[in-house]
Amino acid sequence: MDNKKKVVIVGGGFAGIRLAKKFANNPKLDVIVLDQHNYHFFPPLLYEVSTAFIEPSNIIYPFRKLFQKASNIRFHMGKLDKVLREFNKLVTDQGTLLYDYLVLAMGTEPNYFGNENIKKNAIAMKSIEDALMIRNHILFSMEKSMRSVILEEKQKFSTIVIAGGGPTGVELAGKIAELGRNIADKDYPEALGLKAKIYLIEGAPNLLNTMSINAQQEAYRVLEKLGVIIMLNTLVNDYQNSEVKLSSGEIIIAETLLWTSGVKARKVDGIVAACIGRGDRILVNDINQVDGYSNLFCIGDQALALHDTRYPQGHPQLAQVAIQQGKQLAENLQREILGIKTKPFLYKNKGSMAIISKFKAVVDLPKMYFGGLAAWLVWLLVHLVPLTGVRNRLKLLSNWFWSLMTNDPALRSIIGKVKQ
Ligand SMILES: Cc1cc2nc3c(=O)[nH]c(=O)nc-3n(C[C@H](O)[C@H](O)[C@H](O)COP(=O)(O)OP(=O)(O)OC[C@H]3O[C@@H](n4cnc5c(N)ncnc54)[C@H](O)[C@@H]3O)c2cc1C
Repeated sequence: MDNKKKVVIVGGGFAGIRLAKKFANNPKLDVIVLDQHNYHFFPPLLYEVSTAFIEPSNIIYPFRKLFQKASNIRFHMGKLDKVLREFNKLVTDQGTLLYDYLVLAMGTEPNYFGNENIKKNAIAMKSIEDALMIRNHILFSMEKSMRSVILEEKQKFSTIVIAGGGPTGVELAGKIAELGRNIADKDYPEALGLKAKIYLIEGAPNLLNTMSINAQQEAYRVLEKLGVIIMLNTLVNDYQNSEVKLSSGEIIIAETLLWTSGVKARKVDGIVAACIGRGDRILVNDINQVDGYSNLFCIGDQALALHDTRYPQGHPQLAQVAIQQGKQLAENLQREILGIKTKPFLYKNKGSMAIISKFKAVVDLPKMYFGGLAAWLVWLLVHLVPLTGVRNRLKLLSNWFWSLMTNDPALRSIIGKVKQ
């Protein structure tokens, strides 16, 4: 019965966390962070979990520990089912929550473009569970390959197709190819010369399509040298019974299809269709307020803001956009509560980067490009510093150091579910 405003933030990813942290210990606000997991995680390093290079615990941090020192922030573990806007109420699979202000920051999910076979048979990489599933699946497929006595079957089990040549696909392809190079002969002596095949399929005419031409060419050159078979201007159209069907008519027989080809925003029951834009993203104005609703906001990958003429299609779905929107909304909500004029969100592009293999990365800054070792070192730093928790940073650093020195990370255990 106090005058505090109740803010519910759905989603503890980059955007939600940044927003919540800015509200810490604000005496005017009671904040609830709702997430389906009890931990925050760092998606840019998922590919290193899925290739057994680092442990999942290196890139996750429990929400309750994160907010230990913020007396006004509580965590609610649950999955959002529905928003009842007329009652300012949320329905989750673990109960209901009331709010004065609601902020949606639920990110995206894989987009299979309506193909049920691909959805059922491929593996995407959006969560810790996905990354572990990929790790288990690749390792288990290699075990099956070793057991089989039929050459075609052996090859099928050790063939991996990656659909999507954006940063995630490029990073996965590079790391899997390196694993094959450094470890296959040691771990699988019974392979008797059989080599794993890695295909990278991209619909556009270039890899890393949103980056500079220099970055695209460097990625192509390095991956080709690592033995990755790259197919451009080609789409994966279907996948079942271990047959990857391509738009060229070609069929690749493979036990593994990794799907990094596209995402769409998570849908929310209770948000009317008129508020939904391209990629299922929720349309927001220049302060991330959902069009037509004074106490409903959306930030990060799930939001689509069209006010900035530099980004007529909306902002790119990147960590920096999510972080900056979280920060700015924190300021604007506090201004709004105090009746002060709000400030429009303007994204500051700090550049983009992708790692390709050991000692090789590409970095596009707003006004310059660089690659090679310097880019690789910058990539490591940029992905180490924002990781939550000093312990996580130290563990990651030691994991990286060990793995890079030995070329043999020794985390190749099959634990938990294997995709059948
Ligand atoms: C493999 C991978 C690599 C990437 N690499 C980079 C990179 O190198 N650089 C870069 O800038 N960007 C990268 N990105 C993109 C970046 O991760 C996103 O732009 C960023 O995470 C968006 O932040 P967000 O807070 O909007 O959403 P997210 O970080 O996705 O967080 C959404 C949160 O909502 C929760 N949630 C979802 N649905 C529900 C529900 N129904 N109920 C409750 N909680 C829910 C989720 O559990 C999650 O915690 C990468 C993404 C992936 C998947």
